[in-house]
Amino acid sequence: MKAEIISVGTELLMGELTDTNASWIAGRLPALGIQLQWVSIIGDDLPMLTEAFVHGWQRSDIIFTTGGLGPTQDDLTREAVAAALGETPVVQEPELENLRQWFRNRGQEMPGHNVKQAHLIPSAEFITNRNGTAPGWWAQRDGKHIVCMPGPPGENRAMWQDEIDAKLKELVDTEVTITRNIKTLGLGEASVDEIMSEYFGLENPYLGIYSKADGIHLRIIARASDEAAAREMIAPIEDAIHDRLAPYVWGYDDETPELSVGAALVGRGMTLATMESVSGGFLANTITEAPDSNQWYRGGNVAYTIEAMIASGVASGVLETHGVVSQETANAMAQVAQSATGADFGIGLTGVLGPQELEGNRPGTIHIAIAHGDDVREFPLRTPPRRLVIKRRSCNTALTELRKLITEVAP
Ligand code: AMP
Ligand code: MG
Repeated sequence: MKAEIISVGTELLMGELTDTNASWIAGRLPALGIQLQWVSIIGDDLPMLTEAFVHGWQRSDIIFTTGGLGPTQDDLTREAVAAALGETPVVQEPELENLRQWFRNRGQEMPGHNVKQAHLIPSAEFITNRNGTAPGWWAQRDGKHIVCMPGPPGENRAMWQDEIDAKLKELVDTEVTITRNIKTLGLGEASVDEIMSEYFGLENPYLGIYSKADGIHLRIIARASDEAAAREMIAPIEDAIHDRLAPYVWGYDDETPELSVGAALVGRGMTLATMESVSGGFLANTITEAPDSNQWYRGGNVAYTIEAMIASGVASGVLETHGVVSQETANAMAQVAQSATGADFGIGLTGVLGPQELEGNRPGTIHIAIAHGDDVREFPLRTPPRRLVIKRRSCNTALTELRKLITEVAP
């Protein structure tokens, strides 16, 4: 089944808004066995949108759209679909009543403009939107489909999960595509590429390599008649990756460094505490992105100055002798974090954020330490000198190194 995505909205063309909807939808299609062939962005313009739907209707089996379903005059997706299919939208009383009720539940009266959200063409059905006023449209004719979703990511993702995904599964039961994402840290892209070289260039199963903020990811994609067969095709490549890269692998699929650390700590009944300077709280913030972090994260300290470090228990002698930007200071921070909270692991993170140099070190000079018992592991790091990159890389490195250390000390 050939698909395309049309993202609707002039703000997308102006560069004011990034089209995250299309990439999110694109990410759902391989597992459904739907082949995405085109992604377009079209402004809020009726003739251009209509042209896009006419063209899409010829070349694709299914068109997904997001945006342009609001009540305002510049939201024209419904009108364009109707024009492209040569059908006339008619108001649907039950949906109109749903909309009125939606407003009543919020103590408001429905504005007149919202009536257009209750219109439908004969070939389409509404798709329930539990998070907003704009119902989706699913138009179906001559074996082809147009699926229109609202623009706000929270609304279209919920709609996809509640309604669209199951319908698509019924529609396409011919071939499945399974992907397996294996995440490594510690080797460069070129080294990983070389180590796995003989597996690249195959079409099915396919092996891809991607450089990300949390390391080098390897993605295996296999297409087969059913899921079990696709998994069988993936297995030998996954085994080869483990054989050759085991010390560098820290996670799989949708795992993030914090989820991976959390799963490892919870499974062992262990805990973590942190002390960070250069990352300004980014490490604590990243860790608490994990919904279960209250089970394994004892807390963190943002010691952004020498005074704060000393007040928190870092020996002033260490700072005087080695400076703030030093491995020794990172080690002391890790030990203080650990001993102050009684956690099993303590992370210390210091360095230079920039733009100025600090103690003669250029921005992106990072020292990470992980304390466990009397042992302290040292991880010096150099990142590109941009502030957000420094924070992200240093925190991801701290967590992925911790992840590897946990399995080493408590297999
Ligand atoms: P619309 O339904 O076109 O009125 O869009 C409503 C809101 O959804 C916009 O103001 C954006 O905040 C968001 N939105 C629309 N399209 C996209 C997109 N392609 N990617 C991310 N957000 C979007
Ligand atoms: Mg819009």
